[in-house]
Amino acid sequence: MSKSELNLFNNNETPYQDGTGNGKNGKGKNGNGNGNGKNGHNHNHDHDHNHDHDHDHAPRSEAVVFGETEADAFLRSPDLLHKYELDFPAVDTDAIKAAVTRILSAVGEDPQREGLLNTPKRVAGAYAELLEGYRTDPAELINNAIFDVQYDDMVIVRDIEYFSLCEHHMLPFLGHAHVAYIPGEKVIGLSKIPRIVDMFSRRLQVQERLTRQIAEFIEEVLGARGVAVVMDGMHMCSMMRGVHKCHSGMTTSAFLGSFKEDSNLRKEFMGHLERSAGKKSFM
Ligand SMILES: [Zn+2]
Repeated sequence: MSKSELNLFNNNETPYQDGTGNGKNGKGKNGNGNGNGKNGHNHNHDHDHNHDHDHDHAPRSEAVVFGETEADAFLRSPDLLHKYELDFPAVDTDAIKAAVTRILSAVGEDPQREGLLNTPKRVAGAYAELLEGYRTDPAELINNAIFDVQYDDMVIVRDIEYFSLCEHHMLPFLGHAHVAYIPGEKVIGLSKIPRIVDMFSRRLQVQERLTRQIAEFIEEVLGARGVAVVMDGMHMCSMMRGVHKCHSGMTTSAFLGSFKEDSNLRKEFMGHLERSAGKKSFM
């Protein structure tokens, strides 16, 4: 696909980008003080917490009211939120702070020394942010950037940087995601694909599941005829701990629909990646 074809989609949704970005930061901050989360998962909750987060968004110039369109209702349906683990309660910041203080003592440190005094608070804030993928409102993320378009060629977004935490050690793994899909009747604004990658990365993950969840979400939400996701990852738990098993990184892939059925389509996608790999990410 040519660059100009891709730009065609980009133009449609640029007005939304800033507002959504600001909202993300605000969400992280507000999430910290919210003690709602102590009762475990609540799969039937009614998104009140989203209203809490919304007040410090940058004002939107468009008359977009969240939660009113059919697409928003679908994206906020309890089944979809549950399936993609988007309905977790707020992070219990106080509990994390207390736990970090105990870890500091347990490793022989003095939690009262100056350099560590604010560490429990900082770590709690970091977890709220690094794990905010569990609390993302997909309707807000997509923000009406799904369009009915007659277009049935492959759409590719390459080299999407991601950062995640491995669920076995709670240490970072990071790399690049490459996403392609064959539209059904809908396409999504290109900048939303990296946000979807973020939504599933900012969790406790294994790279295989991360790859699959991104593909399944795009397939379901867009009704795509096919989705391909390839991710490379460097895992700090291997690199820093002397295991060196994943020293040079690890590559995972998920092929759904026509990408699963049609090996030529897979080859075409992988060809795109290989041609662009000289520079950086694809391993
Ligand atoms: Zn690990």
